[in-house]
Amino acid sequence: MTHTLVITGAQVFDGDAFIGTHDVLVRGGVVEAVRSTEAGGTPLAAEASAAGSIVDVVDGSGKTLTPGLIDCHVHVATEGAGSLDAFTEPFSLQFFRAARNLEKTLQAGVTTARDAGGADAGVKTALAQGLVEGPDLRAAISIMSQTGGHGDGRMASGAHMPMFTEHPGRPDGVADGLDGVRAKTREILRAGADHIKICSTGGVLSPTDDPRHSQFTQAEIEVIVAEAAAQGTYVMSHAQGTEGIRNALRAGVRSIEHGIYLDAQTIELFLEKDAFLVPTLQAPQAVIAAADAGAALPPAVVEKARMVAEVHREAIAAAHQAGVKIAMGTDAGVGPHGENLEELELMVGVGLSTEEALRAGTTTAAALLGIDSVEAVAGVGAGGVPSGAAGGGGAGGGLALVGRVAPGYAADLVLFDGDLSRAGLSEARRRVSQVYRGGVRKR
Ligand SMILES: [Zn+2]
Repeated sequence: MTHTLVITGAQVFDGDAFIGTHDVLVRGGVVEAVRSTEAGGTPLAAEASAAGSIVDVVDGSGKTLTPGLIDCHVHVATEGAGSLDAFTEPFSLQFFRAARNLEKTLQAGVTTARDAGGADAGVKTALAQGLVEGPDLRAAISIMSQTGGHGDGRMASGAHMPMFTEHPGRPDGVADGLDGVRAKTREILRAGADHIKICSTGGVLSPTDDPRHSQFTQAEIEVIVAEAAAQGTYVMSHAQGTEGIRNALRAGVRSIEHGIYLDAQTIELFLEKDAFLVPTLQAPQAVIAAADAGAALPPAVVEKARMVAEVHREAIAAAHQAGVKIAMGTDAGVGPHGENLEELELMVGVGLSTEEALRAGTTTAAALLGIDSVEAVAGVGAGGVPSGAAGGGGAGGGLALVGRVAPGYAADLVLFDGDLSRAGLSEARRRVSQVYRGGVRKR
């Protein structure tokens, strides 16, 4: 007897659009059929039951079913990043925190996440072995930075406050020069990184640099991109200032993270390079909120967050209007974990429609991660897309296709209260009713 799950009569957002009320049949962790309930045909549950299946029926009426959301920028090993508390916390606390943050992320409706620094191969292995619950995770492990750059925590005082303390599974990310960055990229990939994270500009959380200044030369970034590509993967770049965004795009990085100072020429370069933009609108806002709540943050950090917040929103709005591919990312870890879906509301706030924001968090994000189509997963025809060394998709085992409610895709699904096609995404995070990963209910 096969077990089958049928979610009946939910408004479905299939990854592209709202398609009206449908039944969705799941078997073996994968969506097997999606059928309209408006056409008057046989309901899928009745059909499966007649065929001898044991059918678990979930009533989706009055609800909206979407693919599990994909957060392309999280830091599950940190919380309140930039806080001076990091000076006094025991080293291993971060891993227990990561376990809880992963659980919160999954409960929030995020079934796949890309870690932009901090989580190491042990965190991924713990997930794969089921020791902890969480989304499918791809990890950068370390953050590559030039000397004095965004990821270099050495202060003029002599203090060293790295974003992520170096340990045997997480190399220090600072490197300079063509040979230096080549060796460093190889070292991080050796530690098990799924992709490489670099900083091509300064940032908000680093007290000693400026988000507008560029870091790494284009030639250095080209070497990193080539080394990553040689191992079947790609580079994501923290990039806020115009010149550093351009250097990274010209050098061939796959995604720009934050993208705060964007001009028309830089937006044009995005289109020309077919690169992704991961806005992380939550991040500067989270720093300001934490400071207002009395968190121990260096004053320079808070000042920079206020400086970038408004220009950031304008930049993302302009990029979206020009047709730049926008993928959802929150920088959770700078702010609290488990509030990931607030980013959907924030994207609507800069001009994306409900469907566009949902696409950013499903199909576009899956395309960025290279897990949106059979061709991408096979590693052909998608130029520098990861070929699936990470493994562990929703279907348990092999790399699953994600980001759509469609036959052949992992049954990573979120059921929201109400019809989001009418209600929109404001407070969508409060409407999450059920979360499935690989067809198994997690919330
Ligand atoms: Zn980040």
